[in-house]
Amino acid sequence: MVNGEMVVSSLMTGRLGPVPDPHDAVPVGWETPGVHGEVGGALFDEVVAELEVLDPALAVSATGALPGLRDRLEQRASAAAALLDGHEEGAVLRVPKSRLADLQQCERLAVARHARPDAGPPGLAALRGVALDRFVLLEVAQGPIVDPVEELLSVLDVQGELDTCDQVVAAASADPGFVDDLAAAAAAWRGVPRSWWPRLQSPAVAQLADGRVVCSGKLDVELGGVLTPHPGVVVEVKSGAPRPAHVEEVALYALLVGWRDGVAPSLVARWYPDEPTACMPVDTGLLTSAAARLGDAIEQWAQLVVGRRPEESPGPWCRWCPHAAVCPSAAATAGPTPGGLADPDDEVEWEPPGDEVGP
Ligand code: SF4
Repeated sequence: MVNGEMVVSSLMTGRLGPVPDPHDAVPVGWETPGVHGEVGGALFDEVVAELEVLDPALAVSATGALPGLRDRLEQRASAAAALLDGHEEGAVLRVPKSRLADLQQCERLAVARHARPDAGPPGLAALRGVALDRFVLLEVAQGPIVDPVEELLSVLDVQGELDTCDQVVAAASADPGFVDDLAAAAAAWRGVPRSWWPRLQSPAVAQLADGRVVCSGKLDVELGGVLTPHPGVVVEVKSGAPRPAHVEEVALYALLVGWRDGVAPSLVARWYPDEPTACMPVDTGLLTSAAARLGDAIEQWAQLVVGRRPEESPGPWCRWCPHAAVCPSAAATAGPTPGGLADPDDEVEWEPPGDEVGP
């Protein structure tokens, strides 16, 4: 069983845990933190190596750009709110990360997924992502995983994801290596020093146009940043193959964290179990591109909410589209895979209903 729901809960929210004292006692499985040259696992070593060669001026200038980017996005959000008022006075427009990603793939897909927010637990490929996220949480929160299936089920149970528990049991019965392999990969996260205050599944929310437009994301892992003596790092955990959309995802997180904390993170990274960690410095260009995409998505979603007909843009994502069976464009490319499962190389970014964090 998991040791201590409180530990898991505070790491998930990033809100409840106290500000760490670098001199705190270190749990079993963690190395003693030092000031520099701290001892960590493979992931931490890669991150520190990137930070050591990073120009600190990049994050400083990126932080300086945050207010101007916010002002420009406020204008676009206010225009979107005005459009909504002609349809439903005072309505709130929500653009969580998952919706932005859907909109960039296919507008009709975004509308379809919005209409079916409780479309059930994830398919097998997405289940891998869910399991890997939780194994990373376990490694960071409590150290080495001893019984992968039991500990995964315990975390999911604490989080109320009972349908997913059933899926894990079924998947582990069909393929006992399914869970073990993911748990073994997550060992790369062992030994992140406490002074870096690792937070998991923490929210970052931007309220624009006096709260009429809400943009949000949940960050897989945050390290360092404000309230710590270390540069801020955001790491996205990915179980599938690297894809260009993942780069845009972490860029959005850098923007949301920058607005939330008033300081841009220094580094965003994507961690894939079988790949070197993909790190990117956060600079003004990265934040500017993310803000432009977010503004486009706000305008797109506002137009769709007030009744514009969504465009169909077929692609690999048709495989997990709720409209795949009825959409005329889907037939020209790829229909749903048997059983509705996605190709593991096209990882579905499955988000539970709680994806829309914030007010
Ligand atoms: S089947 Fe493909 S093209 Fe049609 S709505 Fe779904 S994602 Fe879009």
